Amino acid sequence: MVLDVAIIGAGFGGIGAGVRLGRARITNVAIFERASELGGTWRDNTYPGCRCDVSSNLYSFSFAPNPAWTNTFSYQPEIQRYLGDVARRHQVDELIRYDHDVLEVTFDEQARLWMLETNQGIYHARAVILAVGALAEPRMPTIAGLGDFEGPVLHTARWNSTVELNAKRIGVIGTGASAIQVIPELATHVEHLDVFQRTPAWVVPHRGRPVRARTQRLFRYVPIIQRLARYLDYWRRELLVLAFARQPARMAKAEDGARQFIAAHIKDPELRRALTPNYRMGCKRVLLSNDYYPALARSNVELVSDRIAWVAPKGVVTDDGRFHELDVLVCATGFLVTDNPVCQRVRAVDGRSLAEAFAGELAHYKGTTFPGFPNLFMLAGPNTGLGHSSIIFMIESQLNYVVRALEHALASKAPVEPTARAATAWTESLHAKFPCTVWGTGCASWYLNDAGRNTTIWPDFTFAFRRATHRFERDDHVAAGGSE
Ligand code: NAP
Repeated sequence: MVLDVAIIGAGFGGIGAGVRLGRARITNVAIFERASELGGTWRDNTYPGCRCDVSSNLYSFSFAPNPAWTNTFSYQPEIQRYLGDVARRHQVDELIRYDHDVLEVTFDEQARLWMLETNQGIYHARAVILAVGALAEPRMPTIAGLGDFEGPVLHTARWNSTVELNAKRIGVIGTGASAIQVIPELATHVEHLDVFQRTPAWVVPHRGRPVRARTQRLFRYVPIIQRLARYLDYWRRELLVLAFARQPARMAKAEDGARQFIAAHIKDPELRRALTPNYRMGCKRVLLSNDYYPALARSNVELVSDRIAWVAPKGVVTDDGRFHELDVLVCATGFLVTDNPVCQRVRAVDGRSLAEAFAGELAHYKGTTFPGFPNLFMLAGPNTGLGHSSIIFMIESQLNYVVRALEHALASKAPVEPTARAATAWTESLHAKFPCTVWGTGCASWYLNDAGRNTTIWPDFTFAFRRATHRFERDDHVAAGGSE
């Protein structure tokens, strides 16, 4: 049987796509999920302290508000439960084929079908939605000797809760969003914690707090109140774009506040200096935590800012020649974002993989479709990431375009593909914005690809993206029959 749509991945993108396609009465759909559980990054990131840094009311689908959130910024288990609930309530769970690892995705031009080779057989589909997420593949650091370390080596996105950490000497590599959440959790019960920092992050206070039972009741019985709370949070965050994407110098005031935050917790001037970033706030993701600096001030925690030279069987040697004896290494080193390996498995009409096309600076159309890849849609694709708001808003915007494009493709029996002209115009116009934004102020970050181009961030207001994805613009797509 030929599917109308094959969705790859059952995280926020895949579940959202399943719901939206169902509403558009596109029902001949399957979701291929490599794991035996849904949830994507929220299934995989089970390290202690894992939490979302976008508010619960905004970090949820617009069509599925959750009046039962117990915290204004949810922890991982609750988000994972929420996604399962949404999938069940909207009967999307019935579409999921678990333990199906998609190995190769190729387009048969004659039949105008995508062929998906999985570990459980071959499937054909008229269209493919890549909903694999940007934070799916852990990035292990490339440090000499890492393979020789005798103790357990964990990655925050592949946590192993059976590894004993109590009363052990632990080394955490990295000081990004995952690290600053796991470090305070570990600090209280390990014997010693070395935090290996390469670049300090800007950290600001976390405003998360438990939601009172009476607020939950209010949200349940007067849903407009929760909508209003979401709306207000959305617009408060959009104001940040004025600084991030228009006048980055405005971030100086927030930097002063963050320096005072460091000073309030860190008395040692040397440590304070080591923790103070020397780049514009916002260029790398701004982190939220009330307990990261207090954890670093503990007597059993040391911030090591000398670079790691190599890993020895029983510890880490830093550039200054010091040996740090360790029992367990925790890599909080992030994800393969601009080089997601799944892109190597998707091949265009001409045989090029999506990864090869990206390496050649392939232009994209609204972060979602690509010339040469008919009826292929990518959620959370290039330049749809955010530093200030919820990726779910971006995914839902993309789904507006995807659903309309699919309705057109299925009705006309002609695959949808953006013209090279439209894709180039889109990509170049947004890249022209970067020099004046906070991401153009100069810092190394995972937002940049190997060529130093920012292929991750959406450099504008999110409502501009919502507007751009609202319609299916026929003129921007290759006409049926193949000519531009
Ligand atoms: P990340 O932001 O990429 O941070 C990785 C950290 O590892 C950085 O401090 C990096 O240093 C360091 N690092 C990488 N390779 C290293 C090496 N070879 N030696 C020493 N240090 C090394 O990854 P993440 O913390 O997992 O976060 C990724 C994204 O996931 C976040 O930006 C966010 O979008 C999401 N996330 C969100 C939350 C939340 O909602 N609170 C929590 C976790 C993750 P450099 O800075 O020098 O590169």
